[in-house]
Amino acid sequence: MQLPKLGLVLFTFGNVSAVDRSLGVFAIKPSGVPYDQLSPAKMVIVDFDSTVVEGNLRPSSDTKTHAVLYTHWPMIGGIAHTHSIYATAWAQSQRDIPIFGTTHADHNTVDIPCAPPMDDEMIGGDYEYQTGFQIINCLQKKGLSYQEVEMILVGNHAPFTWGKTAEKAVYNSAVAENIAQMALLTEQINPRAGRLKEALIKKHFERKHGPDSYYGQ
Ligand SMILES: [Zn+2]
Repeated sequence: MQLPKLGLVLFTFGNVSAVDRSLGVFAIKPSGVPYDQLSPAKMVIVDFDSTVVEGNLRPSSDTKTHAVLYTHWPMIGGIAHTHSIYATAWAQSQRDIPIFGTTHADHNTVDIPCAPPMDDEMIGGDYEYQTGFQIINCLQKKGLSYQEVEMILVGNHAPFTWGKTAEKAVYNSAVAENIAQMALLTEQINPRAGRLKEALIKKHFERKHGPDSYYGQ
């Protein structure tokens, strides 16, 4: 319900899920239900094969993508997906979001990756299931850890974000959108803007995430 409040989705767009690893299930937004009508009872509980184990509504159409990520990434607790405008525009442009500033560096030390658009076979097959692998394969190819980079763009589609909790995944969706908007404006103001220099990347990431972090205290 935070997604529309944060301006990240329209109508019934987007979805969030939260996993319970001890029970081997996750709760996900039902498909087609407006956000202001959501309640805990309307959440759909599914297992990692995307089979509904509790709930009367249809799970989000992206459920299989969430299931693939939970299966392959044991340390995540929540996933969010939006079509937020700026992040989606970068996805549609099939570009990684360059690290231009310290806002970006506070969350990631690398460009926000954009997975290539899926090939025809993946699209024609089990599309939402394959979307999960498109995400996993992209991070793997770029040598990135899902525990360090908690956001990705899927080319021609939109952002997916995750985190230790569903709340963190939603937070990361808002951060991704914020970074995407700033990066676009940066390129508009100066098309030759350079990437943030290494010393600033390290400084900002470590003051928030390093062993001696002090940011926000
Ligand atoms: Zn989508």
